[in-house]
Formats: sequence, C-alpha cells, structure tokens
Amino acid sequence: MADLSSSLAELSKDFSGRLLPPGDPAWDGARRVHNGLIDRRPALIAQCLGSADVAQAIRFAREQGLEIAVRGGGHNVGGRATVDRGIVIDLSALKHVHVDPKARTARVGGGTLWGHFNREAQAHGLATTGGVVSSTGVAGLTLGGGLGWLMPRHGMALDNLQSAEMVLADGRIVRAAPDENPDLFWAIRGGGGNFGIASSLEFRLHPVGPMIAGGLVAWPFERVHDVMRLFRELTSAAGDDLMLVCALITGPDAATRLAAIGAGFFGDPAQAEAALKPIKSFGQPAMDAMGPIQYTQLNAMLDASYPAGARNAWKAEFLESLTDDAIGTITEAFARCPSPMGQIVIEHFHGAAARVAPTDTAYALRASGFNVLALSQWMAPENDAAGAAWCRETNAALKRFAGARRYLNYLDHDDSGQPGLEAAYGPNLRRLQSLKAKYDPQNIFHLNVNIPPAD
Ligand SMILES: Cc1cc2nc3c(=O)[nH]c(=O)nc-3n(C[C@H](O)[C@H](O)[C@H](O)COP(=O)(O)OP(=O)(O)OC[C@H]3O[C@@H](n4cnc5c(N)ncnc54)[C@H](O)[C@@H]3O)c2cc1C
Repeated sequence: MADLSSSLAELSKDFSGRLLPPGDPAWDGARRVHNGLIDRRPALIAQCLGSADVAQAIRFAREQGLEIAVRGGGHNVGGRATVDRGIVIDLSALKHVHVDPKARTARVGGGTLWGHFNREAQAHGLATTGGVVSSTGVAGLTLGGGLGWLMPRHGMALDNLQSAEMVLADGRIVRAAPDENPDLFWAIRGGGGNFGIASSLEFRLHPVGPMIAGGLVAWPFERVHDVMRLFRELTSAAGDDLMLVCALITGPDAATRLAAIGAGFFGDPAQAEAALKPIKSFGQPAMDAMGPIQYTQLNAMLDASYPAGARNAWKAEFLESLTDDAIGTITEAFARCPSPMGQIVIEHFHGAAARVAPTDTAYALRASGFNVLALSQWMAPENDAAGAAWCRETNAALKRFAGARRYLNYLDHDDSGQPGLEAAYGPNLRRLQSLKAKYDPQNIFHLNVNIPPAD
C-alpha cells in the first residue's frame, strides 16, 4: 500500500472533514459497504464535509496516482463505492436535507440517505420518488435512475432532479441544471457517477400523505402461479396512482416460502380501498400487512429484510411482458433458492416513468414492463459459491424473456463490457461517450458502469 504519510500531513492542513488512513481506529468501520461480500482496503478514506473537500480530495488522488471510488450510501451491490489501495471519496458525512415547502423543493447533501430525506420532506407533507429501503443513498440511486413507490405518478428519482452541484475531474465546482451546463445535467440523469461527484442535489417535491394506502400481502407458495397472474392482471390496468411489486420470499420462520404482492396507492384516499380490494380479497393470505400506512413507514417496512453486512449478488432483466412461461421459470428458479434471505422481486414500471422519451435524459430504460431481480442474499461465507451460482443461473434462465435494456442500478461488477454498456445506456451511449471526453477525458471516475471517453 502506498505510503501517504507525508503528503497526508499537507492535505490535512486545509481539509475540513476526516482523513482515515489504515491504522486509524475509524478506518475499518468506514471501509465497509452494505454488501458483506465486498472487502476492500483503501489507502485513504477522505470523509468530505463540502465541495471544497471533495475538490481537494480529487486533486490529491490525481497527484498521488490513486484510483478514486465515490461513496454515497454505500449500497451498490457491485461494491463500486470502495477500492483496494486507492482513495474513497466518502460523502457519508455530507448529509443534510433542506426543504423549501413553498417552492416544493429539497436540497440534500451528496451522502444523504433516503430515510433522512423522506422524514424531512414528510414533515411538510411532501415527497419525491426515492428508494424503498431507507438506508440507500440518495445520490447513487438518483444518478442511476431511481425506482420507488412514486414512480408511476412522479417518474424516476432522476426525473425529479432540478439541479446538482458537481465537482468535476479537474476539481472545478459547477452547477448542472437546465439553464447551466445543460449537457452535464442531461448526462448525470442516468449516467451514474461517470461525470463527477454530486456534492448536493436539488429535487422537486410533491404533496404525499403523510398517510397513504399500501403495504404487503403474502400467500402460501402453492398459490404462486395464481398470485403472479393476479399481479399481471392488476399491472395491466394500473393507473399512475398505483405502484405494484410482486416478490417471492421466505417467511419470518426462515422456512415457509411465500408469494407476495406489494402495493402503494397515492390517489384520492376515497378510492384507496377499491384500488387495493383485488389484492386484499384474493383468498386466504398467510400474511396481510396492507392498509393505511405512513409514507415513511412504507419506505422502511422492507429494511429488516436487507441487513447491512449480508452477502449479496444481484442480477436483473427487464421483461416487457410477464408470460405464463416466464412465470413458470421464475417460480422454478425461486424453488431452487439456497437461502431464506434470497428473493425474486418483480418491479412493475409504468406511468410517468415510462412516458419520458429514452433520449430525453441519459437514463434509457423508458418502457412499461417488469424488472425481474434475482436478489441472492445470505450470511455465511461458506455459502458464497451457492449464493452467487443461484443468482447467475436464475438470471441465465430469464434471458430468453428479456428485452434489450437493463436497469443500471442493479448491474453487478461482472455486468460490464460492451453488452453491459449497451444494456444500460442504449441509444444514449455515443452521446455519453462524447460528454465523458468533455468532462472526464482521463476517465478518473471509472469505478461505476463505466462509459469510456470517445476518442
Ligand atoms: C438494500 C438495497 C435496496 C435498494 N433499493 C433500491 C430502490 O428501491 N430503488 C432503486 O432504484 N435502487 C435500489 N437499490 C440499488 C441502488 O440504487 C444502487 O445500489 C445505488 O448504487 C445505491 O446508491 P448509494 O449512494 O447507496 O451507493 P454507493 O455504493 O455509495 O454508490 C454507488 C455509485 O454511485 C455513484 N455515487 C454515489 N454517490 C455519488 C455522488 N454523491 N456523486 C456522484 N456519484 C455518486 C458512484 O459511482 C458510486 O460508485 C437498492 C440497493 C440495496 C442494496
């Protein structure tokens, strides 16, 4: 590992945040990310307190020849927020949420988590589309798309981004917005972390709740085909007020397999009961946790299912339709899942998120359909091979039903190369490569679904 001690002393003279080299008591905890499979040992973790710290950390990395990883919420399953022997530019201390209730906007720090964002926005009865697990990072999720309960009504998280303060590869601090660096603003909305580090992001908010209707109902696995067909039928008729998810899961006893439907209804409260009735009245459920619920609770109800440090392998494919054949394949695959923590999650994309043209933002997955995620999760290292194999094999079985696009935020470390790039960025890849050449010609931000700069 590079000896940085003398140059670190120089860096620390002005740096406002914390600099954690190996040996610092806080280094070991700070290097961990959500996915317990990832075990990297950075030469330095620079916990930034503002854009000036971020710019200084970038310049320092370049001078020292250190590879740069950028950490927002640390939830990227591929472990892109950390690096061996390089520098982690860690935004986890850069958490703040300021809501302007009159303008219905929120400005948040680049390391803010969704639970914090939702709590502050909901204090004013406001919200925007965000992740369904409260510990996920706002920045990483938004720059790669951002699916959540509000997406049929208000689009992806990135459709609600109004501006961002970006620290570029050369250390310049610029604003990206429709009226300022509009090409950069286009690129960051779907280009992941390729174009710079977002030290703050400004979002449009919408009146939501605080009480809405939603939750989860689960049935015994014997009914899985019926449940998935019900899900398909409901999605075919769903309007913008209704978000639907289907999940094959194991119950709290770690043995009973279940087929579940999750729903969030954001329309007229007087219509909520009717909207959820087909789910609530679908025969004897094993569990019914659907009804009036606070929006913040809806976005935290899944947290316990995804504990920090669990070992994860994820792969997703986007299916434009959910045929009986696909339902059969998904069901058989789940029956082979080696861990009670593993799941198959089917997220339905429709409404506002699907009405944006694929080239309007860098984010290209703009179709109605079903994002099918093989979410392999386990605790014990001795189960690593089985966990990874199930994820890979499930994904391979789904390929024949899949469309050309894949959801960027779910791409794993081995989903790279040209096929991964085309799946993630589709028709926007060439323009993204030109903009990469403009904003990061030396590709210093490459620990992401990396866009090579155009020659
Ligand atoms: C338990 C769990 C639940 C999830 N739920 C959802 C969900 O509901 N909806 C959804 O769409 N996705 C979800 N995801 C996927 C999630 O969107 C991605 O993992 C995303 O990368 C997480 O962002 P992060 O900031 O937490 O990640 P990190 O691992 O910190 O960052 C991932 C990458 O994002 C970039 N990045 C992060 N912060 C910044 C920044 N401030 N500026 C520039 N680049 C940055 C960097 O390239 C970094 O490598 C979930 C993941 C997990 C593990």
